[in-house]
Amino acid sequence: MKQYKAYCFDLDGTVYKGKSAIESAVRYIHRLQARGIEPFYVTNNSSKTPEQLQASLAAIGITAPIDHLYSSAMATAQYVKLHYPEARVRLMGSDGLLTAAEALDLQVVDTIEADVFMMGIDRELTYTTLANACLTVQSGAVFIATNGDVKFPNENGFVPGNGSLARLVEGVTGVTPIYIGKPSPVMLELIADMHGFEKEDMVMIGDNYDTDILSGIRFGIDTIHVNTGVTPAHEVFDKPEPPSILVENMDAYAALEDSM
Ligand SMILES: [Mg+2]
Repeated sequence: MKQYKAYCFDLDGTVYKGKSAIESAVRYIHRLQARGIEPFYVTNNSSKTPEQLQASLAAIGITAPIDHLYSSAMATAQYVKLHYPEARVRLMGSDGLLTAAEALDLQVVDTIEADVFMMGIDRELTYTTLANACLTVQSGAVFIATNGDVKFPNENGFVPGNGSLARLVEGVTGVTPIYIGKPSPVMLELIADMHGFEKEDMVMIGDNYDTDILSGIRFGIDTIHVNTGVTPAHEVFDKPEPPSILVENMDAYAALEDSM
């Protein structure tokens, strides 16, 4: 089995489900840390700040440095800063997206005259919020969504992701958003650039073929699919481009390593 320098873990459905740990992943992360390797965490979840993500991991027994946490909120703000530096930005979403926008000094406004509309998941969503989103996009704002995930798992099943809400706005306005989160390779690119890794040093680990695994494939790095979340293994077999490795969970991956 190949040893990597940067193990990039998806979070929801890979490391935890809601507040519950996926113990096999936690054990593998501890195993890496015991080898002196600090993993990275790459999430399409835009609702949490890096500090909140750190707290969620701490609650299941994982210590993670802030600079190893990458969210689609952070990548979205960086994308807007790069491509629309002067834009007036209206946003929908929770702390994570606002914090990311403020950290980069984006000009945040609350009017339909905005130049860019940044959309992340808002768990306190009201009809007014969605109506304002539709009106802002109709009046010409560039529509950028943190991620296109239609659903994600919690302790009891699947709940709507930002992609479901973005599709609603798309349905009303006829405008398709630019999606920043996985399967876009933007977050993996940031890890490589900010920490100085070569592609052959990196592996992306996730439960969702259409986001996690595709982001790794598009970036050109190895991928490990775990059967602990969104995409069941039997569906992965039908995909035209398979992950590098498909395992039931990270205990199985550790067993493969031990058998070599
Ligand atoms: Mg996931």
